[in-house]
Amino acid sequence: MTTKVHNFSAGPGILPQEVLKQAANACINFDNLNLSLLEISHRSKNFEAVINNTRNMVKNLLHLDDDFEVIFLGGGASMQFAMVPYNLLSTTGKAGYLNTGVWASKAIKEVKLLGNTVVVASSEDRKFNYIPKNYEIPNDLDYFHLTSNNTIYGTQIKTFPKTSVPLVCDMSSDIFSREVNGNDFSLIYAGAQKNMGPAGATMVAVRKSILGKTERKMLSMLDYLVHIKGQSMYNTPPVFPIYVTMLTLEWLIKNGGIAHIEKMNNQKAALLYSEIDRNPLFKGTCAVEDRSLMNVTFVLENPEKEIIFDKLAKDANLSGIRGHRDVGGYRASLYNALPIESVKTLVEVMQHFEKTNG
Ligand SMILES: *Cc1c(COP(=O)(O)O)cnc(C)c1O
Repeated sequence: MTTKVHNFSAGPGILPQEVLKQAANACINFDNLNLSLLEISHRSKNFEAVINNTRNMVKNLLHLDDDFEVIFLGGGASMQFAMVPYNLLSTTGKAGYLNTGVWASKAIKEVKLLGNTVVVASSEDRKFNYIPKNYEIPNDLDYFHLTSNNTIYGTQIKTFPKTSVPLVCDMSSDIFSREVNGNDFSLIYAGAQKNMGPAGATMVAVRKSILGKTERKMLSMLDYLVHIKGQSMYNTPPVFPIYVTMLTLEWLIKNGGIAHIEKMNNQKAALLYSEIDRNPLFKGTCAVEDRSLMNVTFVLENPEKEIIFDKLAKDANLSGIRGHRDVGGYRASLYNALPIESVKTLVEVMQHFEKTNG
C-alpha cells in the first residue's frame, strides 16, 4: 500500500485520483479502440468528441454567451501575455493593466513591447500583499487586464471592477474554483496546470466581436482568429492535456459543479486561515480581505524554526508547502482536487508544532 501524500503543490497542482487513473488507462486503450490516445489522429472522431465536449463544459461552467469562442492552445499562460496585446491592442491604442504580482508584471513586460501601456494601479509598494482598490479605469483603453488570483503572493480579487472597457483576465490559478459570470469579461485565459488539468494546454475564451481590429499584420500561430477558424486544430493541439482537462471538468460537474466546489473551497480556506490567525507561531502574509482561497501564504513568527516545522510536515506526508522562491515562508495551495482531510492534517501539524515549540 502506498502512503497517502497530501499534495499542496502550487503548480502543476493536484488532480483527482480517479482522473489520473482514467488518464492512465487512455494512454493504453482509449475509447476501446485498442489504441492509445497518444497515437491517434487529433482529427479522429474520437478526439473531436473530446475537444467538443471540453469546449462545451467550459462554456457552460463560465455561462458564456454565443459571442464567445473557446480554444485550447500551447505555450502556457505566459504565451497569452504576448497574444493578448498582439490581438487586442491596436497600433494607436492603449492597454491598461492592474499590477498585482509576478504574473501581472510579466504580462506588463510583454505588452510594453507591443504598444502604449498604462499600469492603472499596483500593489508593488507593499510587496503585492494586497489588491489595489478604488482605482479609476480610463475609458479610452482597448482593454484592461487583471490577474484574478495571484498564485505566488496569495491574494485574490473578490469583486471585479465594473467598466465599459473590455476586461481581460488571467484566471490560471482560480478558474472553476468559484462562480464567475464569464460574460462580464471579453477574454479569459488560464493555463490548465493549476486547477483544470495538466501542463501543456491553455484555455482561451474570447469574444469574437473584439477581434480583428488591431491593423497589425498577424502571424498565423499568434492569431486567435486563425485558431478559432481551425477549431483549435490549425496545428496539432495538445491532445493529452486537453483530454485530462475534459476528465477533470467531468469530475467537477459530477461532484456538484462549481456551486459545491466553491463551498468546499471556502471551508478549506477558512479552516487554514483560522488556524494561522489563532496559532501564535504563525502569521498570514496578505491583507485579510484579499486572501486567496486557492494559495494560502504564511510565515513562522520565528523563521529559525522552519527546519523543525519542515520536519514535522515531512513526517506527516505534507508535500509542496514551501513558499515560492521570491517570497519564502509557506504556501499551501488548496485547489479543487485537494480534499479537506489534507487541510485538516496540515492544521493538526501546525497545532502539534505549537504544543512542542510554543
Ligand atoms: C502559473 C501561472 C502563470 C504561468 O503559467 P505558464 O503556463 O507556466 O506559462 C500565469 N499566470 C498565473 C496567474 C499563474 O498562476
